[in-house]
Amino acid sequence: MFKILQKTVTTGSATVAYPDTPAVISEHFRGRPAFDLEAWTDARPAAEVCPTGAIMIRERDGFRRVTIDYGLCVFCGQCADVSTDGAVRLTREFELATEDRRSLILQAEFSLNDQGGHDRLMASRSATGNGPEDDPGMKVGEAIHKLLGRSLAIREVDAGSCNGCELEIVALNNPVHDIERFGIQFVASPRHADMLLVTGPVTRNMERALEKTYAATPDPKVVVAVGACGISGGIFGINYATRGGVDEIIPVDVYIPGCPPRPEALLYGILLATGRLARSVTTS
Ligand code: SF4
Repeated sequence: MFKILQKTVTTGSATVAYPDTPAVISEHFRGRPAFDLEAWTDARPAAEVCPTGAIMIRERDGFRRVTIDYGLCVFCGQCADVSTDGAVRLTREFELATEDRRSLILQAEFSLNDQGGHDRLMASRSATGNGPEDDPGMKVGEAIHKLLGRSLAIREVDAGSCNGCELEIVALNNPVHDIERFGIQFVASPRHADMLLVTGPVTRNMERALEKTYAATPDPKVVVAVGACGISGGIFGINYATRGGVDEIIPVDVYIPGCPPRPEALLYGILLATGRLARSVTTS
C-alpha cells in the first residue's frame, strides 16, 4: 500500500493537456495522406492499390478527374508507397472531424495531353475539415455545464465495427486522456444520452437497433459517425451484410475520419459536436 502511494506521488499526473496544448504524436502514427496535385504526374497507380476505393478516377474528353474521399480512406499509405514522383505522402494530421461530409472530398481535374505524357493539373477543389468553431482549448467543462446544466452524456453504439474504434474510444477514459475532465461521460442508456457515438459500417442486423437507439435518445441530440466505416462503410462498403455509413440510417451531425481515429481525433470531433449541440439548444 505504501509503495502504491509512493508511486502515485512520484509519478505525478499522466493526463495529457490536449486540446489546450498540441498532442504528442508518435513519428510512426499514420494520419491523412496529403496530395501535391501540381506535382502528381499520374494518379492511376495510387487508385489501383487503394484498398477502399478512396481514390477514384474517371476519364472523359482528354481529362482525368480524380476524386479522393477522406471519408473512405483508412490511412494505409499504399498510395504514397506507389507514387514515385513523391506527390503523395502520409502526414500525421488527425484533426479532421467535420460537420460537412462533402468537405472530406478532394477533387482534381488533369489534362491528359501534356508533353511527356504526364498529367497536368487543371482545377482542384480541396477537402477542408472544419474543426471546433470555438477555440479548441475552450473551457469545455464550463461550456457543457452552461449548456446542459450537467455533464455531456454519450452513448456509444457499435453498429458492426471490427472494434478498432472501440479500443480508441475506451482509451478516452484512461488516465492519459481522461475525458471526464471535461464533464463528458459515457452512459449505458440512450435515454440518458445527449450524443450518440456510432462506429462500424451499419450491419443489417444492427440497422433496426440503431434506429431504435436514435429514437430513444431525447432531443436535442447529436450523432457522431466514427471512423471510415462509420462515415462510408470503409473497407466493408455496402454489401449483403452492411448498409454502409451511419448516415444511411440516421442523420449524422459530425464525421470523424480515421481507421481507427486516435483518442485526440475523437476528442476533437466530440468538441465539434458539442458546439453543434450548443447551437441547436440555443435555436430551439
Ligand atoms: S492512404 Fe487512403 S487513399 Fe491512400 S491507398 Fe490507403 S486508403 Fe487509399
